[in-house]
Amino acid sequence: MKKVMFTTLLCALAATMTAQERDQYWVQADSLCAKLLTMDTHNHIDVPMTKEKLPGPRVDLRTAMSKAGMSAVGMTFAVDYVQPLAEGQEYERFVNAMTAQDSILHWSGLRLTLSGREMQQRFREGEPVVIQCVEGGHFLEGDVARLQEAYDRGLRVFCLLHDNDANHPLGDVYTNQPRHGGLTRLGADAIRECERLGMLVDLAHCDSATIAMALQVATKPVLISHTGLSTRLGSNEFMGKMMRPRLITPAQARMVAAKGGVIGIWPHLASSPEEYASNIRAMIDIVGIDHVCIGTDSKITPEYQEITPEMKERFKKQQREHEREQGDRPQGDKK
Ligand SMILES: [Zn+2]
Repeated sequence: MKKVMFTTLLCALAATMTAQERDQYWVQADSLCAKLLTMDTHNHIDVPMTKEKLPGPRVDLRTAMSKAGMSAVGMTFAVDYVQPLAEGQEYERFVNAMTAQDSILHWSGLRLTLSGREMQQRFREGEPVVIQCVEGGHFLEGDVARLQEAYDRGLRVFCLLHDNDANHPLGDVYTNQPRHGGLTRLGADAIRECERLGMLVDLAHCDSATIAMALQVATKPVLISHTGLSTRLGSNEFMGKMMRPRLITPAQARMVAAKGGVIGIWPHLASSPEEYASNIRAMIDIVGIDHVCIGTDSKITPEYQEITPEMKERFKKQQREHEREQGDRPQGDKK
């Protein structure tokens, strides 16, 4: 972990140099990155989720990781961009996305890394490390036994929540109105099952009550893959306000670290690499370097947006509403 942090800080330093110094510096940074295990714990690799769209665009993840200077990546997807999802659809989309990500691995000549030991071995061999993650437990649809199935397919990081409530909720999402009193029984069962299987639980998107309850249930370290300190809102007032509910307090960070957990820092609130490094440093000062990692929540592969029948229907509806609104306005007032 210390080595990962060191690399990030070096990258940030490069931004303060002249062009010539920077060129020379990047050569050194590149050679250092090649020696160290550099990981982004939360990177969205876009894939289709409906069967008709499989296997999706041909993506070369190996090259994308190499260009980004990363030796390890948490390959993430979420199924809840289209809402509401009908019963059964959350699982269907999960299975399709896993199949699409398998295709990306196949095209890229990669395979999933399934254990810590394997991770170290891959790195020694100069092979990229790809860890399968999902953002949101929507696919469980009330059935924690599906975690075993997901584990068997290679899932190793299970993020309980995402932006939208699941049909069978696992806890309260920090950007939604609290409705479930924090962690639900299903959420607690899912944490226990993850621990039994050896899957890492990610508490990103959980509100404060859900985090506190999840930490009571968990007996093993947890991850919060992408967040930041609530005391570091940055210079952009709009962003700071928008991001505030998504950040954790120093006290919460200490609670996560006390359980052996790790916190990933978002670059979203930094306007420069130096500021990003200083945000990371601020978290290190609170919980110690062994409890901090990088979670960019970005995309190193091309963006892919799936136009689903639900989205088409929504666009049509919005268009009809817009046309109706325009029709209702007096002449000369149509904008
Ligand atoms: Zn997220």
